Amino acid sequence: MKRALFPGSFDPITLGHYDIIKRGIKLFDEVVVAIGVNAEKKYMFSLDERKSFIEEAFKNQPKVKVVTYEGLTIDFCEKIDAQFILRGLRNPADFEFEKAIAHTNRRLSKIETVFLLTAAKTSFISSSIVRDVIRNNGDYTVLVPDSVVVK
Ligand code: ADP
Repeated sequence: MKRALFPGSFDPITLGHYDIIKRGIKLFDEVVVAIGVNAEKKYMFSLDERKSFIEEAFKNQPKVKVVTYEGLTIDFCEKIDAQFILRGLRNPADFEFEKAIAHTNRRLSKIETVFLLTAAKTSFISSSIVRDVIRNNGDYTVLVPDSVVVK
């Protein structure tokens, strides 16, 4: 069984993440969306909210699982028997950042990182911009799946 871990903060999930997950399930038997828990980081949405936004967006897709994890991503991959890490690339800055992480992970484990180029129509979207739009009462709904609801 080919299992890929798609790690991130997903604060909140955006249409960019959604696109990568949808395309990921064509390549893998299972895509595990893994929300990393970092005690140092301040989030806009609680862990439960971030998890349920993703679960709701993929409720009819049995190949997508949503979990939370702490610690090194490669350790978690080994724990759940995921042979691949899935990441999205938007631009050269993403590439440089991801390259260093992927090389490190490859040095420390046998896990392969698979990169998908974002769809052109979602390549400008980031969770941090979505949070700015939300904070300033803009129409965030065009940037995220319908499951993301701000109370
Ligand atoms: P992180 O805290 O790791 O940056 P994110 O939730 O922002 O977590 O991103 C998780 C993954 O989704 C990363 O691989 C990132 O490059 C990818 N990603 C983020 N936004 C987009 C987008 N608009 N299109 C494609 N991939 C994206």
